[in-house]
Amino acid sequence: MAETNIVDMRAIEMVFDGIQVLKKASFSLRRGEVHALMGGNGAGKSTLMKVLTGVYRKGAGTVLIDGAPVEFTGLAEAERAGVAMIFQEFSLVPTLTVAQNIFLAREPRVGRAFLNDAEAVRRARAVLAELGVDIDPRTPVEQLSVGLCQMVEIAKALAKSARILVMDEPTASLSESETDALFKLVERLKGNGISIVYISHRMAEIFQVCDRITVMRDGETVLTDTCAKLSMDKLVEAMLGSTAGASMTWHARDHALGTTPVLEIENLSLEGHFEAVSFALKPGEIVGLAGLMGSGRTEIAESIFGLRRPTAGQIRVGGKPIRNNRDAIDAGVGLVPENRRTQGLVLDHSLLNNIMLPNLARFTRRFILDETAATATARDFIGRLKIKTDGPGKIARMLSGGNQQKIVLAKWLARQPKVLILDEPTMGVDIGAKSDIIEIVRRLAAAGAAVLVISSEFEELLAMSDRLLVIQGGRLVQELDRREIGSEEVLHHAVQG
Ligand code: ADP
Ligand code: MG
Repeated sequence: MAETNIVDMRAIEMVFDGIQVLKKASFSLRRGEVHALMGGNGAGKSTLMKVLTGVYRKGAGTVLIDGAPVEFTGLAEAERAGVAMIFQEFSLVPTLTVAQNIFLAREPRVGRAFLNDAEAVRRARAVLAELGVDIDPRTPVEQLSVGLCQMVEIAKALAKSARILVMDEPTASLSESETDALFKLVERLKGNGISIVYISHRMAEIFQVCDRITVMRDGETVLTDTCAKLSMDKLVEAMLGSTAGASMTWHARDHALGTTPVLEIENLSLEGHFEAVSFALKPGEIVGLAGLMGSGRTEIAESIFGLRRPTAGQIRVGGKPIRNNRDAIDAGVGLVPENRRTQGLVLDHSLLNNIMLPNLARFTRRFILDETAATATARDFIGRLKIKTDGPGKIARMLSGGNQQKIVLAKWLARQPKVLILDEPTMGVDIGAKSDIIEIVRRLAAAGAAVLVISSEFEELLAMSDRLLVIQGGRLVQELDRREIGSEEVLHHAVQG
């Protein structure tokens, strides 16, 4: 039994600034398995893995690798023992090439001499080929997409002959296709006998790639089992504790809807994307757009927000036609985009600046920003949305995915939108943040806003929507009252056609 575990962590304790962050946490990794580590923000996942990889020194407990106790004094020592970690924040140097990055910390040597660039390129090419990744090793890293940067990080770890690889939220900022490529890579690594710890919030992807799951909550390990034996409900309960799932339950909302539609879409078409779509939203209503990836949902949202120019049809908000983004914003339409990292946030700016960006007019008098008022508002939203940060001055890039998504929400909520469109509002956020976001949306609608939600997670659509519009191949094929939908299956069926 003992020898099937390549890693054994027992009763690990860790204290930061007087706060006990790990409380007798345990974790084991079997040889050649992919083991998911889950839990809400701040549960201690990254910290536990940083203890394993020598980034942090534990307060108490035992770490065994191959049955022998280890006490790494740093990442370099862990790497020499075959343990590597890919961090939430990338460690690549943008101006250097892929090859230089892969071998940066440890230039390849022949005998005692440093290898030249040509040799580094040759070796990088071999490592990348082994990963099935098609990148020219001479490309500067700054020219690569996030997905490819992730691949380079992995290549870098493997070039150091890692046997144990920790991936900390690897898909948090990847696109759909990049995520698929990463899954294939994980399979491949597993096939090559590498044991993997996979930290992620995304249930669906965990069930797709992992063998076992461990859940942490408040610094403790609360659950470990094989995927086959775990249901989503059980995981949610383990992650949230007693408050499990409450926000995921739909209740018919009792506030009155407005009588005049605030958003009217009439015969709207965008060639190649969607055709003759008509619907209307009343104030106070939450309507879900259900459909498969590529069915035209995002394009419909972007057209309403004036980012795309429809080839036919009409959009009206409060009776006024919307022809472009300016019209949409002036009419009180907000969009929380699908790709928040590139569209929703200025990552290098502070929370304050991000929240205030669409609200400058309200806080500016004679071209001077009223900083006190702006900061107060930002603080208010940080509190209301439970954004985990030490203050509004923090740079957005430094926050976790769930908290970044809340900033994008705050930015639009501060504007008090009449119509808010949310495109995959909880993608990549943990379950705690997810239920917070769902609650925020409900409250916004209760206050009279009309909300249009796009989500690939049916559970979430069903938790929020009063009504569902089913989009197939760019056409609105069905409209369902939430009360008619007894189970998720009904919606699955409708969407698949
Ligand atoms: P997770 O990865 O599960 O989201 P972390 O391991 O990053 O959680 O954090 C666990 C707790 O430890 C959090 O409360 C966090 O604020 C705290 N923490 C993490 N790293 C540090 C650090 N370097 N200094 C102080 N506190 C930290
Ligand atoms: Mg973390």
